[in-house]
Amino acid sequence: MATKKPQSARTSHSRSASRTGPGAGKRITARDLKSFRRRLEDELTVLTGRRAGLEAASATSPEGAGAGGYGEEASDAGSFTSERERDLSLAGNLRDLIEKIQGALGRIDDGSYGRCEVCGQPIEAERLDALPYTTLCLADARRRARVR
Ligand SMILES: [Zn+2]
Repeated sequence: MATKKPQSARTSHSRSASRTGPGAGKRITARDLKSFRRRLEDELTVLTGRRAGLEAASATSPEGAGAGGYGEEASDAGSFTSERERDLSLAGNLRDLIEKIQGALGRIDDGSYGRCEVCGQPIEAERLDALPYTTLCLADARRRARVR
């Protein structure tokens, strides 16, 4: 299950620690950052590979299929949601995710990683663990999900 970490290394190596807000739980340590970075980089590699595969696939797909041809006067074809469309949204999701991950890596570099872009509070460690590229704290993510 969870990886065991030796708890021995406890050197307080924090450089000029910024104010800890009240209720700021676990903070992200340099070591955490490192492992987040690695996870993000791994994921980025996987995703860019997948995207390249998708793009190659759609580039080589025969043009005749579906697109073009005579008018689509068929009854409003709601069932037309084809695989192609699914691929498109998949590619869109991938691009989205890739951008998020790149953004997260950039924030690791500039030191703003792990802070909510809305309220500026540190993002919950557990949440970051589950979604390393998130830019929102739990409360703001919920709020955003609710608003439409
Ligand atoms: Zn927030």
